[in-house]
Amino acid sequence: MNPDKPTSPFSSLLDKSRNLIDDIKRSYHDSPLFKTNSCYFCGKPIVGRYYTDLYDHSLCSTHPRRFCVSCSGFCDSGCIEVGGGKYLCSSCQNFHTTLKDAKEMIKMIRAHYEKIGLGVIERFHLEMVSVEEMHRMTSGDVLGLASSNGRRYYIHVLENLSHTAMVGILAHEILHIWQFQRRLNAPNRISEGFCDLGSYEIYSQIKTQHSEVKIQMLQEDPSPIYGDGYRIVKRYFDKAGWAGVIKKMEGYLSE
Ligand SMILES: [Zn+2]
Ligand SMILES: [Zn+2]
Ligand SMILES: [Zn+2]
Repeated sequence: MNPDKPTSPFSSLLDKSRNLIDDIKRSYHDSPLFKTNSCYFCGKPIVGRYYTDLYDHSLCSTHPRRFCVSCSGFCDSGCIEVGGGKYLCSSCQNFHTTLKDAKEMIKMIRAHYEKIGLGVIERFHLEMVSVEEMHRMTSGDVLGLASSNGRRYYIHVLENLSHTAMVGILAHEILHIWQFQRRLNAPNRISEGFCDLGSYEIYSQIKTQHSEVKIQMLQEDPSPIYGDGYRIVKRYFDKAGWAGVIKKMEGYLSE
Protein backbone atom coordinates (compact mmCIF):
# COMPACT_ATOMS: atom_id res chain seq x y z
CA MET A 1 0.00 0.00 0.00
CA ASN A 2 1.29 3.44 -0.90
CA PRO A 3 1.48 5.41 2.38
CA ASP A 4 1.25 8.75 0.55
CA LYS A 5 -2.08 7.94 -0.94
CA PRO A 6 -4.95 8.75 1.43
CA THR A 7 -7.59 6.04 1.46
CA SER A 8 -11.20 6.71 2.15
CA PRO A 9 -12.63 4.79 5.11
CA PHE A 10 -15.30 3.82 2.63
CA SER A 11 -12.94 2.32 0.06
CA SER A 12 -13.22 -1.28 1.27
CA LEU A 13 -16.98 -1.01 1.01
CA LEU A 14 -16.87 0.53 -2.41
CA ASP A 15 -15.92 -2.73 -4.08
CA LYS A 16 -18.98 -4.54 -2.83
CA SER A 17 -21.28 -1.62 -3.39
CA ARG A 18 -19.58 -0.24 -6.48
CA ASN A 19 -22.70 -0.15 -8.65
CA LEU A 20 -24.78 1.58 -6.06
CA ILE A 21 -22.20 4.29 -5.35
CA ASP A 22 -21.68 4.79 -9.09
CA ASP A 23 -25.41 5.21 -9.49
CA ILE A 24 -25.46 7.81 -6.75
CA LYS A 25 -22.51 9.59 -8.34
CA ARG A 26 -24.19 9.59 -11.75
CA SER A 27 -27.22 11.41 -10.40
CA TYR A 28 -28.06 14.49 -12.44
CA HIS A 29 -27.04 16.93 -9.78
CA ASP A 30 -23.45 16.35 -10.79
CA SER A 31 -24.00 16.95 -14.46
CA PRO A 32 -22.49 20.20 -15.81
CA LEU A 33 -25.29 20.18 -18.39
CA PHE A 34 -27.58 21.94 -15.97
CA LYS A 35 -25.28 24.85 -15.25
CA THR A 36 -26.79 27.16 -17.85
CA ASN A 37 -28.68 30.40 -17.68
CA SER A 38 -31.85 28.90 -19.02
CA CYS A 39 -34.84 28.23 -16.86
CA TYR A 40 -34.90 24.79 -15.20
CA PHE A 41 -38.65 24.59 -15.70
CA CYS A 42 -39.40 25.97 -19.20
CA GLY A 43 -35.91 25.83 -20.74
CA LYS A 44 -36.11 29.40 -22.06
CA PRO A 45 -33.30 31.89 -21.40
CA ILE A 46 -33.79 33.70 -18.12
CA VAL A 47 -35.04 37.25 -18.61
CA GLY A 48 -35.74 39.56 -15.68
CA ARG A 49 -36.44 38.23 -12.21
CA TYR A 50 -35.68 34.62 -11.34
CA TYR A 51 -35.15 32.31 -8.40
CA THR A 52 -32.26 29.93 -7.75
CA ASP A 53 -32.14 26.78 -5.65
CA LEU A 54 -29.29 25.06 -3.79
CA TYR A 55 -28.18 23.35 -7.03
CA ASP A 56 -27.86 26.64 -8.93
CA HIS A 57 -30.93 25.92 -11.03
CA SER A 58 -32.63 29.09 -12.24
CA LEU A 59 -36.39 29.47 -12.41
CA CYS A 60 -38.42 32.28 -14.07
CA SER A 61 -40.23 34.20 -11.36
CA THR A 62 -43.52 33.57 -13.20
CA HIS A 63 -43.57 29.80 -12.45
CA PRO A 64 -44.90 28.30 -9.21
CA ARG A 65 -41.97 27.65 -6.88
CA ARG A 66 -42.28 23.95 -6.08
CA PHE A 67 -39.56 21.88 -4.46
CA CYS A 68 -38.77 18.20 -4.93
CA VAL A 69 -39.42 16.16 -1.77
CA SER A 70 -36.32 14.06 -2.42
CA CYS A 71 -33.55 16.51 -3.43
CA SER A 72 -35.14 19.79 -2.23
CA GLY A 73 -34.28 21.40 -5.59
CA PHE A 74 -36.81 23.07 -7.87
CA CYS A 75 -39.33 20.94 -9.70
CA ASP A 76 -38.81 20.78 -13.45
CA SER A 77 -41.55 20.34 -16.06
CA GLY A 78 -41.42 16.53 -15.66
CA CYS A 79 -42.15 16.78 -11.94
CA ILE A 80 -44.96 14.53 -10.67
CA GLU A 81 -47.14 14.81 -7.59
CA VAL A 82 -46.60 11.87 -5.25
CA GLY A 83 -49.48 12.65 -2.88
CA GLY A 84 -50.04 14.96 0.05
CA GLY A 85 -48.98 18.00 -2.01
CA LYS A 86 -45.46 16.58 -2.42
CA TYR A 87 -43.59 16.62 -5.73
CA LEU A 88 -40.76 14.60 -7.22
CA CYS A 89 -38.47 16.04 -9.94
CA SER A 90 -37.62 14.09 -13.13
CA SER A 91 -34.09 13.28 -12.05
CA CYS A 92 -35.14 11.89 -8.69
CA GLN A 93 -37.71 9.79 -10.56
CA ASN A 94 -34.82 8.37 -12.62
CA PHE A 95 -32.78 7.57 -9.52
CA HIS A 96 -35.67 6.12 -7.58
CA THR A 97 -34.62 3.69 -4.83
CA THR A 98 -36.03 0.16 -4.95
CA LEU A 99 -36.40 -2.00 -1.84
CA LYS A 100 -33.41 -4.02 -3.08
CA ASP A 101 -31.28 -0.83 -3.39
CA ALA A 102 -32.33 0.22 0.11
CA LYS A 103 -31.27 -3.15 1.52
CA GLU A 104 -27.87 -2.82 -0.18
CA MET A 105 -27.53 0.66 1.32
CA ILE A 106 -28.32 -0.68 4.77
CA LYS A 107 -25.57 -3.30 4.43
CA MET A 108 -23.13 -0.59 3.41
CA ILE A 109 -24.14 1.80 6.21
CA ARG A 110 -24.06 -0.96 8.84
CA ALA A 111 -20.55 -1.98 7.77
CA HIS A 112 -19.37 1.63 7.81
CA TYR A 113 -20.89 2.29 11.23
CA GLU A 114 -19.23 -0.82 12.59
CA LYS A 115 -15.92 0.40 11.22
CA ILE A 116 -16.14 3.81 12.90
CA GLY A 117 -16.78 2.18 16.28
CA LEU A 118 -20.57 2.06 16.62
CA GLY A 119 -20.53 -1.72 16.95
CA VAL A 120 -23.18 -4.12 15.78
CA ILE A 121 -26.59 -2.72 14.97
CA GLU A 122 -29.53 -5.01 15.61
CA ARG A 123 -31.74 -6.26 12.76
CA PHE A 124 -34.83 -4.26 11.92
CA HIS A 125 -37.74 -4.51 9.57
CA LEU A 126 -37.68 -2.04 6.66
CA GLU A 127 -40.83 -0.82 5.00
CA MET A 128 -41.31 1.71 2.18
CA VAL A 129 -44.51 3.71 2.49
CA SER A 130 -46.44 6.31 0.49
CA VAL A 131 -46.71 9.98 1.53
CA GLU A 132 -50.27 9.29 2.77
CA GLU A 133 -49.23 6.29 4.87
CA MET A 134 -46.40 8.32 6.37
CA HIS A 135 -48.85 11.10 7.23
CA ARG A 136 -51.06 8.58 9.02
CA MET A 137 -48.13 7.37 11.14
CA THR A 138 -46.65 10.75 12.06
CA SER A 139 -47.92 14.23 12.62
CA GLY A 140 -45.01 16.05 10.98
CA ASP A 141 -43.56 16.17 7.50
CA VAL A 142 -41.07 13.35 7.84
CA LEU A 143 -39.28 11.23 5.23
CA GLY A 144 -38.29 8.43 7.59
CA LEU A 145 -39.32 6.99 10.93
CA ALA A 146 -37.66 4.54 13.34
CA SER A 147 -39.70 2.77 16.01
CA SER A 148 -39.54 -0.08 18.47
CA ASN A 149 -42.20 -2.03 20.33
CA GLY A 150 -39.60 -3.20 22.84
CA ARG A 151 -38.95 -6.49 21.05
CA ARG A 152 -38.61 -5.60 17.38
CA TYR A 153 -37.30 -2.57 15.53
CA TYR A 154 -38.84 -0.94 12.47
CA ILE A 155 -37.80 1.67 9.91
CA HIS A 156 -40.39 3.24 7.63
CA VAL A 157 -39.17 5.39 4.73
CA LEU A 158 -40.92 7.26 1.97
CA GLU A 159 -41.03 5.12 -1.18
CA ASN A 160 -40.29 7.97 -3.61
CA LEU A 161 -36.78 8.96 -2.62
CA SER A 162 -33.74 9.09 -4.89
CA HIS A 163 -30.59 7.16 -3.97
CA THR A 164 -28.77 10.08 -2.33
CA ALA A 165 -31.79 11.14 -0.29
CA MET A 166 -32.50 7.54 0.75
CA VAL A 167 -28.97 6.77 1.92
CA GLY A 168 -29.07 9.87 4.15
CA ILE A 169 -32.46 9.02 5.65
CA LEU A 170 -31.41 5.41 6.33
CA ALA A 171 -28.16 6.60 7.91
CA HIS A 172 -30.25 8.80 10.25
CA GLU A 173 -32.90 6.19 11.16
CA ILE A 174 -30.34 3.43 11.76
CA LEU A 175 -28.78 5.57 14.51
CA HIS A 176 -32.20 5.74 16.22
CA ILE A 177 -32.19 1.91 16.23
CA TRP A 178 -28.65 2.06 17.67
CA GLN A 179 -29.98 4.28 20.51
CA PHE A 180 -33.07 2.07 21.12
CA GLN A 181 -30.94 -1.04 21.24
CA ARG A 182 -28.60 0.45 23.84
CA ARG A 183 -31.50 1.86 25.88
CA LEU A 184 -30.16 5.40 25.57
CA ASN A 185 -32.32 8.29 26.53
CA ALA A 186 -30.64 11.45 25.27
CA PRO A 187 -32.56 14.74 25.11
CA ASN A 188 -34.54 14.94 21.87
CA ARG A 189 -32.26 17.38 20.07
CA ILE A 190 -29.10 15.47 21.02
CA SER A 191 -30.72 12.25 19.83
CA GLU A 192 -31.75 13.83 16.48
CA GLY A 193 -28.45 15.71 16.14
CA PHE A 194 -26.58 12.43 16.62
CA CYS A 195 -28.69 10.75 13.91
CA ASP A 196 -28.03 13.69 11.56
CA LEU A 197 -24.31 13.29 12.25
CA GLY A 198 -24.74 9.78 10.79
CA SER A 199 -26.26 11.29 7.63
CA TYR A 200 -23.35 13.74 7.52
CA GLU A 201 -20.88 10.85 7.86
CA ILE A 202 -22.39 8.89 4.97
CA TYR A 203 -22.92 11.95 2.74
CA SER A 204 -19.31 12.97 3.22
CA GLN A 205 -18.24 9.56 1.87
CA ILE A 206 -20.31 10.00 -1.30
CA LYS A 207 -18.95 13.42 -2.34
CA THR A 208 -21.37 14.49 -5.06
CA GLN A 209 -23.02 17.86 -5.53
CA HIS A 210 -26.25 16.37 -4.24
CA SER A 211 -24.57 15.05 -1.08
CA GLU A 212 -22.74 18.38 -0.57
CA VAL A 213 -26.09 20.15 -0.74
CA LYS A 214 -27.53 17.70 1.79
CA ILE A 215 -24.63 18.49 4.17
CA GLN A 216 -25.22 22.21 3.67
CA MET A 217 -28.90 21.67 4.50
CA LEU A 218 -27.96 19.88 7.74
CA GLN A 219 -25.71 22.79 8.72
CA GLU A 220 -28.30 25.44 7.92
CA ASP A 221 -31.40 23.65 9.20
CA PRO A 222 -33.31 26.28 11.25
CA SER A 223 -35.15 23.65 13.37
CA PRO A 224 -34.44 24.02 17.11
CA ILE A 225 -34.44 20.20 17.42
CA TYR A 226 -32.75 18.93 14.24
CA GLY A 227 -30.69 21.97 13.23
CA ASP A 228 -29.54 23.06 16.70
CA GLY A 229 -29.09 19.42 17.71
CA TYR A 230 -26.92 18.72 14.69
CA ARG A 231 -24.76 21.81 15.25
CA ILE A 232 -24.18 20.88 18.92
CA VAL A 233 -23.26 17.26 18.14
CA LYS A 234 -21.18 18.25 15.08
CA ARG A 235 -19.15 20.77 17.12
CA TYR A 236 -18.40 18.02 19.63
CA PHE A 237 -17.55 15.60 16.82
CA ASP A 238 -15.07 18.11 15.32
CA LYS A 239 -13.21 18.11 18.64
CA ALA A 240 -13.59 14.54 19.83
CA GLY A 241 -14.34 12.44 16.71
CA TRP A 242 -16.68 9.45 16.63
CA ALA A 243 -15.05 7.89 19.69
CA GLY A 244 -15.87 10.99 21.74
CA VAL A 245 -19.42 11.28 20.41
CA ILE A 246 -20.16 7.60 21.04
CA LYS A 247 -18.83 7.87 24.61
CA LYS A 248 -20.99 10.93 25.21
CA MET A 249 -24.09 9.17 23.82
CA GLU A 250 -23.47 6.10 25.99
CA GLY A 251 -23.58 8.43 29.00
CA TYR A 252 -27.33 8.87 28.35
CA LEU A 253 -28.11 5.31 29.47
CA SER A 254 -31.65 5.20 30.88
CA GLU A 255 -32.19 3.84 34.40
ZN1 LIG B 1 -39.16 29.50 -17.10
ZN1 LIG C 1 -35.43 15.83 -6.98
ZN1 LIG D 1 -34.81 11.27 13.79
